[in-house]
Amino acid sequence: MQSYTLNNGVQMPALGLGVFQTPPDETRAAVMAALDLGYRHIDTAAVYGNEREVGQAIRESGLPREEVFVETKTWISDYGYDETLHSFDKSAAKLGVDRIDLLILHQALPSDFDKTLAAYRALERLLADGKVRAIGVSNFMADHLTALLDATSVVPAVNQLEIHPYFQQRAVLDFDDRHGILNQAWSPIGGITFYTGEERQSVLADPAVTAIAGAHGKSPAQVLLRWGIQQGRSVIPKSTKPHRMAENIDVFDFTLDADELKTLDALESGHRGGPEPADVTLAAYGHILIPEA
Ligand code: NDP
Repeated sequence: MQSYTLNNGVQMPALGLGVFQTPPDETRAAVMAALDLGYRHIDTAAVYGNEREVGQAIRESGLPREEVFVETKTWISDYGYDETLHSFDKSAAKLGVDRIDLLILHQALPSDFDKTLAAYRALERLLADGKVRAIGVSNFMADHLTALLDATSVVPAVNQLEIHPYFQQRAVLDFDDRHGILNQAWSPIGGITFYTGEERQSVLADPAVTAIAGAHGKSPAQVLLRWGIQQGRSVIPKSTKPHRMAENIDVFDFTLDADELKTLDALESGHRGGPEPADVTLAAYGHILIPEA
């Protein structure tokens, strides 16, 4: 498995398994299947409610702990210095690990940025104490990152963002590249373009994507993952189905040429699938509380 070196020297696999919307009672089997197929990176979040089952699967796989890269996210209702320190305790206890490989802030709170900064300073403390191996952010736009970099000392290792051909966030990607922040794609096969129930075209069914897939004897999902990896991004496709997990990890034996990359880049629609960053407020989403371990 190809890996990336984060800005503090830590290695992270290029491709991992996402578990957003994986029901807790299916998570253990899904993660066990993924580890069996060769996945060595799991992306969960406190707010997904399945950290405990992720941890169970890692232990039951029998793999040495250091062989599996565990990433999780602190939810906004746990922002604040002490609260975020405690969010680590909750997540680590549910995961059953002493150390989390990558802990990130799930969202910026643009209207409550002091709280976001306090949360990030807690991540810096956890990093200094060796409780996490790397820290980062998610869904941070360039202006949030500028404000964060101005006020804190550790450059985030990762920014996890909605990235698929229909919504590429090139300005943020460029900002991250310039500052040594690795771009990590959520909905890397465009899940947000088809699982919300909105009437939208799925990027997996886009004729340009299916044509490139046909030319390589690969699936549309494999083409989208390859597009991300070839452009230096971490990708974390979610599936609960072992045959799809096997498909999604089988993306290291073909190469998209420059024209194909350009064709995929040209699919940008400007339509964000996830929440507008400015709409993420404690009033709107802060009522979701993360239980104690
Ligand atoms: P993905 O792009 O990974 O798509 C997941 C969807 O695609 C699921 O419905 C899955 O269904 C289906 N699927 C998986 N593999 C295939 C395949 N080969 N062919 C066809 N369909 C397939 O979307 P996500 O939004 O789940 O993003 C991935 C991960 O990113 C999440 O699980 C989570 O870890 C993270 N994330 C982070 C967010 C953030 O705000 N930081 C927001 C959203 C996601 P099935 O399971 O039935 O196979």
